[in-house]
Amino acid sequence: MAATRTAAVLLRGHDYGDSSRILRFYTEQMGLVSVVARGVRGRTGKGIATLATFASGELTAYVKANRDLHTMKDFECTRLREGLGRDVLRFTGASAAAELVLAHAEQEQHAGLFEALVGALDQIEGVAAEERAGAVLSALWSITEAFGYAPQIDDCVKCGEVLGEQDYGRFDYAAGGVRCPSCSEGAAGPRMGPGARAQLRELLSGRRPPDLSHARQHLTLLTDFLAYHVVSRPLKSFRFLAGLFPQEAPLAS
Ligand SMILES: [Zn+2]
Repeated sequence: MAATRTAAVLLRGHDYGDSSRILRFYTEQMGLVSVVARGVRGRTGKGIATLATFASGELTAYVKANRDLHTMKDFECTRLREGLGRDVLRFTGASAAAELVLAHAEQEQHAGLFEALVGALDQIEGVAAEERAGAVLSALWSITEAFGYAPQIDDCVKCGEVLGEQDYGRFDYAAGGVRCPSCSEGAAGPRMGPGARAQLRELLSGRRPPDLSHARQHLTLLTDFLAYHVVSRPLKSFRFLAGLFPQEAPLAS
């Protein structure tokens, strides 16, 4: 059988049988792929250490149609991303990115999602310590956007009016965006002032606001937005992540 070769990121692995591991990759050509890596446990030497979570490389696998589990032939690591293990915030942020992709990605090619995932992991690994929270938030929003979901924050989701520069709106999870002051009544989400909207706009553009405040509230907004529109159950790593973000006054300020 011919083997398929594709760029891939290792998202998760667990032991299987006496000596093997099941590995879940997000790949450039086939989307989410699960493979069994035979005989890799207890073995040392070249190549084994590189089968680490968040590593990028070239996966070669024997892929059978209509199967969920394939057989790995080889993984040639090109980027280990050891830096993600250096501190708990980077590691948890990367875990949240992986968990989000595992929860919603399909077993089919999605170039934009592959690019967003690789960019997310690189950003979280490489960013300066004081910008980690912003990097994690913009990385997670970029994956969410690659799935096809983004909140509407400039025009009211109810009446369509453009929110004024000084307006305080309120987030409406069901409608997927901000309501203007006149329509705010009855929306269940947090109040959002001009500052918070400006920061969210930056995060959605893949940038890190230099003056990011309310990182915890931004994470809550993202988590609840995902729960409403993208994932069917709460993502564990997002809860861990919240505990690592500083708690500040409500998002409205
Ligand atoms: Zn309105």
